[in-house]
Amino acid sequence: MAGNQQPEVNIGLVGHVDHGKTTLVQALSGSWTDQHSEEMKRGISIRLGYADATFRYCDGLEEPDCYTVSEECPDGSESEPLRTVSFVDAPGHETLMATMLSGASLMDGAVLVVSANEPVPQPQTEEHLMALDIIGIDNIVIAQNKVDLVSTDQAQRNYEEIQEFVSGTVAEDAPVVPVSAGQEVNIDLLIQAIEDEIPTPERDPDADPRMHVARSFDINKPGTTASDLSGGVLGGSLVQGELEVDDEIEIKPGREVEEGGQTEYVPIETTIRSLQAGGEGVDTATPGGLLGVGTGLDPSLTKGDALAGRLAGPRGSLPPTWQAFTMDVDLLERVVGTDGGEVEEISTGEPLMMTVGTATTVGAVTSAREGECEVNLKRPVAAEPGAKIAINRRIGARWRLIGLGTLKE
Ligand code: GDP
Ligand code: MG
Repeated sequence: MAGNQQPEVNIGLVGHVDHGKTTLVQALSGSWTDQHSEEMKRGISIRLGYADATFRYCDGLEEPDCYTVSEECPDGSESEPLRTVSFVDAPGHETLMATMLSGASLMDGAVLVVSANEPVPQPQTEEHLMALDIIGIDNIVIAQNKVDLVSTDQAQRNYEEIQEFVSGTVAEDAPVVPVSAGQEVNIDLLIQAIEDEIPTPERDPDADPRMHVARSFDINKPGTTASDLSGGVLGGSLVQGELEVDDEIEIKPGREVEEGGQTEYVPIETTIRSLQAGGEGVDTATPGGLLGVGTGLDPSLTKGDALAGRLAGPRGSLPPTWQAFTMDVDLLERVVGTDGGEVEEISTGEPLMMTVGTATTVGAVTSAREGECEVNLKRPVAAEPGAKIAINRRIGARWRLIGLGTLKE
């Protein structure tokens, strides 16, 4: 059956809570990312819900009518698959901004969902656009959702508010597509806009494969006998290269070992036993979508997300592990959040929460200077110099996004 392609591009679904992100993913992919049972069925779930959609094409029809997610065209013929995309349904709440930012580092483009029946911008609409701006994601389509709830005049006024809001941002030139996710209106127009605005990035198949591990599991039922145990499973996203069954990989940061009173992190090495991409077993995995990697590791090592935030790739190819690092700091003007005040300078001694790729780690500032600071991490991270770091400060009971760091050499 056609359409069982691996997803080749990751598209973030962002926007204010209740504006229809999950409903839109459902209209595009037929799956419901909020539903736990669906995640269970997929074998691998993730804090960010991934849902794959195969965009298809009906020969002989004009744009946008030719675009569909259905396997059948209006005349009864079978539609042609164009490509499979993976939607990352980012959580909408401000407390989850760090999760969104870590997921966003794996996004190739974004659909910003804005409800037509509320003033623009709502708080998370603004925050998520700011996050896209910070991370530098500029392949954006704006879905003006719930147009079924407003009059033509209201839709027009809302459209103008959206245009005014995005002017001067990364989304300035993004098309605004009026849709109703709930009533499945203009989904074809939205697919066309995504096809035009969010191309599949060029991938180098010869690059060293690198996976960001977002989750890790022990998939064995309690009481499984030792001889029947499946090895530990990693879930995450391949950002470059290709992985194959039987490849030898290492995972960094690995295991903590004590030697002569010194704590060191030694990479964990293992063999890939199986690969799951686009919800199916495959021999070769390519970038895009959610990847499941069955390994030869003792499942106790992968249980309960124990390896979340790590990098995986061929031995010797991964960037260094940092227990402390220096970063260039760009502070935001205002704290992210509805009641966010001005951001004060980072001071020596204060704790920060940092998100690097899929890793989230807390650290203490050991030295703060103008535009730069040094932090000592509770748990180390593996990252390339130049990596982007979302910086969060504890304000009241919550971690709030206050700026973006860049890892220095
Ligand atoms: P999310 O928080 O952004 O993921 O929003 P949801 O997809 O959960 O939708 C929030 C609510 O809006 C739900 O009750 C949906 O049924 C409703 N909704 C979503 N899209 C539409 C739409 O196009 N029209 C109408 N009338 N309701 C919608
Ligand atoms: Mg949702």
